[in-house]
Amino acid sequence: MSIMLQDVSKTFGNFIALDRVNLEVPDGELLALLGPSGSGKTTLLRIIAGLEVADSGTVLHGSEDITEYSARDRKVGFVFQHYALFRHMTVAENIGYGLRVRGAPKAKIRERVDELLNLIRLEGLQTRYPGQLSGGQRQRVALARALAAQPRVLLLDEPFGALDAKVRQELRQWLRRLHEEIHVTSIFVTHDQEEAFEVADRVVVMNNGRIEQVGKPDEIYNHPATPFVYQFLGNVNRFHGHIREGRLRLGDTELHLPEQRGLKDADVVAYVRPHEIKVRAQSGGSSVIAAIIKHVNAAGPLVRLELERTDDGSRMTVELTKEESSQISLQPGCQIFVELKNVRVFSEDHPV
Ligand code: ATP
Repeated sequence: MSIMLQDVSKTFGNFIALDRVNLEVPDGELLALLGPSGSGKTTLLRIIAGLEVADSGTVLHGSEDITEYSARDRKVGFVFQHYALFRHMTVAENIGYGLRVRGAPKAKIRERVDELLNLIRLEGLQTRYPGQLSGGQRQRVALARALAAQPRVLLLDEPFGALDAKVRQELRQWLRRLHEEIHVTSIFVTHDQEEAFEVADRVVVMNNGRIEQVGKPDEIYNHPATPFVYQFLGNVNRFHGHIREGRLRLGDTELHLPEQRGLKDADVVAYVRPHEIKVRAQSGGSSVIAAIIKHVNAAGPLVRLELERTDDGSRMTVELTKEESSQISLQPGCQIFVELKNVRVFSEDHPV
C-alpha cells in the first residue's frame, strides 16, 4: 500500500515540529527517515500511524484519505525502540496478541504464529518469555507481533536503537532480507546514516521539521542537495570564499568552476570531502592551496592528514590511500600543496 503525505504540519505550542511536509512512499518500499534529534522524524511516523494528529495536511493510503482514521483503522504495524513486549506472555502469546484481541480463531492464530516464528527465524523459542531472550531476539519478536495482523504498512521507530553495535549490524541485514521476503511498505526512523544507507531503498533527510532531500542512498551521498545534508553526512571540509562568473576565490587560490556560473557574484561556502583532496609536494599553479601538515594518522585503511592553510590558518582534513601517501613525504611541520576535486558550492546565505 502506498502512502502519501500532503502539506502535513504539526506544532507543539509555539514549536513547529513539522512544516508542510510532502512525501510519497510507493507500495513495497523500505524508506528511512533520517535526521538529527528533534528534526521531526518520530512526529511524522506517529502521524502516519494515527498516533498523533496533524494540525493540517492530508495522509493517504493508496487513494484513500485516512487523515481522520484512528490508529486501529489504519492497519499499520508499529515497532518501537524499547521492546514493549508483554513480560508475562510467552513469545507465541506476544506474537499472537493482536489476533487474539481481534477474536481470531485459535487454530488460525497458531498457524500465523508458526509462520511468523519461521519468518523471524526463532522457531523453537515460542514458549520462552521476553526476559529469556537477547535484545536482538526481542526486537525480532516485536517485529513479528507487528506483522501478525498483516498490516498494510510497517512503521519502525529506531528499532535497533537500544542494541549494541554488533547486534545492530546483524539486524540491519536481517531487516533488509526480511523486507525482500514480505515486501510490506515500511518506514523506519533512524539518526544513524550508515543504518539508513545500508537498509533503505530511499532515504528522507529531515531537518527542523522539513524534508531537506529524498533519494536513493547513493544519490544522497553523491549529490547532497543542501549544506545541511553535506554536514549531516559528516566528514566534509568547508571553505569560505567568493565566486564570480565561475571563478571561485579561496584566499590566495582561484578555482575555475564553469558549472557554477549560475552564482553571479556571491559569498559562498565550498564543500569538499577529505578523500576528494589530492596532495602534492610542489605548488604548480594558482589553483592549489598551500598548507602545513599538523598531524598524520596512518592507523587505518586510509591515511588522515590534518592540515593548516598557509593563507588564512584554517584547518582541513585530507584522506589519502596508502598508495597515494607513499608517494610524498608526510612529516608534521612540512609544507604541501592541495588540489580540491569535486568542489560543491552553496551561497553563504543558504540556510544550514
Ligand atoms: P529523536 O531522534 O530525538 O526522537 P525526532 O526527529 O524523532 O527526534 P520528534 O520526536 O519528532 O523528533 O520531535 C520533534 C520536536 O517536537 C522535538 O523538538 C520535540 O521536543 C517536539 N515534540 C515532540 N512531541 C512533543 C509533544 N508531545 N509536546 C511537545 N513537544 C513535542
